[in-house]
Amino acid sequence: MDQLTKLHGLGQRAPGDEPIQHLKPQVDPSTLLHRQLLDGPFWQRIPAYRAVDEATFLDHTWQAKNSITNPAKLLAAVQDLVPREFYEDVEQGFHRAPMSIRVSPYLLSLIDWSDPVNDPLRRQFIPIASRLLPDHPKLTLDSLHEQADAPVAGLTHRYPDKALFLVLDTCPVYCRFCTRSYAVGVDTDSVDKVSLKATEERWERAFRYISERDELEDIVVSGGDSYQLKARQVTLIGNRLLEMPNIRRIRFATKGPAVMPMKLITDHEWVDALTAVVERGRKLHKEVVLHTHFNHPNEITAITKRALDGVFERGIITRNQSVLQRGVNDRVDTMQLLVKRLGHCQVHPYYVYVHDLVKGVEDLRTTLQTALDIEKGVRGVTAGFHTPTFVVDAPGGGGKRVAHSFEHYDRETGISVFAAPSVKPGFFLYFDPVDTLAPEIQDKWKHPAEQDRMVEAAIAQARLNQVASAKASSVR
Ligand code: SF4
Repeated sequence: MDQLTKLHGLGQRAPGDEPIQHLKPQVDPSTLLHRQLLDGPFWQRIPAYRAVDEATFLDHTWQAKNSITNPAKLLAAVQDLVPREFYEDVEQGFHRAPMSIRVSPYLLSLIDWSDPVNDPLRRQFIPIASRLLPDHPKLTLDSLHEQADAPVAGLTHRYPDKALFLVLDTCPVYCRFCTRSYAVGVDTDSVDKVSLKATEERWERAFRYISERDELEDIVVSGGDSYQLKARQVTLIGNRLLEMPNIRRIRFATKGPAVMPMKLITDHEWVDALTAVVERGRKLHKEVVLHTHFNHPNEITAITKRALDGVFERGIITRNQSVLQRGVNDRVDTMQLLVKRLGHCQVHPYYVYVHDLVKGVEDLRTTLQTALDIEKGVRGVTAGFHTPTFVVDAPGGGGKRVAHSFEHYDRETGISVFAAPSVKPGFFLYFDPVDTLAPEIQDKWKHPAEQDRMVEAAIAQARLNQVASAKASSVR
């Protein structure tokens, strides 16, 4: 007889001790996939890293020094794990890509080399020529018009109270799908980059502009990638912004936790610098947070959890922005797992972007309908504040629009029309990838006159829809 039974008399149950009638059957713990993180020396599967011990693999300087930057280095690392034809495919893809290649040993170790063509991480970082598709005819290099909205080089002021500060042009990895392929990374065979070097002279002009615009309250420090800033640069930028009375919020944007989480474990100087800015901000009643960029659940391992646990212990809030990509995360179950796994690491899933119109990566874009379907499947698997909003970053500088908020979406021609009345007048158009459309519509996209007709018809319909909706509102 247990103590409570003795206390309350034989056969009597303690208050609150009655059996609970579970309305749902218990889940099988093995189905809680988001808690099952890859652990152990998984990198030793790669021939070049067979003798690499944990301390070396966790050293962020070793990761940076051993990153793969060209096809020859890739071959030297993976050796006989891939057939020769795959390697030739990479070589040709490399020459046609608008982005340079940089893949950390960590990322390389997470790719399934028995099926690299279909691996979701390979697809994001290593181009192969055989899978490339022609660009959409309406694509331009800086499709979001970041440069057109930049009063100072590298400072985009689009929304009334927020600015995007591109402090440098390098990253710990280079993503094929990068919207900023016009500036980020070194020149490639197909793109000469706009220079956004980390110079204090350029930053000073940006600081001056920000301090002269009283309406600015929120600064995204990005690039490139904040991970590439030296610790003293994090301190300088953070403090300069915190000292401006108008600034209330700062976000340090970095893909680092997704591609090189060990820096958060072994680069104490950088993490201490960020923590000091966050703590100083807190004392000034200003929010300083980390924004990161995970796209697939395979990017989150036990190393990631350890790194993000450390960040969380320091009281730093982390939010995530994903990019929806074909063959990467365009399935409901994949996106559900990503969202749950981010939550497991105390990262708030904030946005999922419908893939921007970016040069050389048509094979990665999805239709807008895919985003709508996935959002429907994801909403409800966890709490609302851990559920990402699916957005289209409207080409032409309309800013982020909720994917559902189109004025018109012609699923046949693949044209969706958005309006952004609080950002800019006019309509903003997003285009589904041509190869996903019916063959007769694909033919139409080959002719400029037909393209214009389809675009004009979509805008005309958007206008009619706006009028009809205004009428319906006035009746209510
Ligand atoms: S880390 Fe960000 S800025 Fe750098 S290449 Fe990737 S998407 Fe572009």
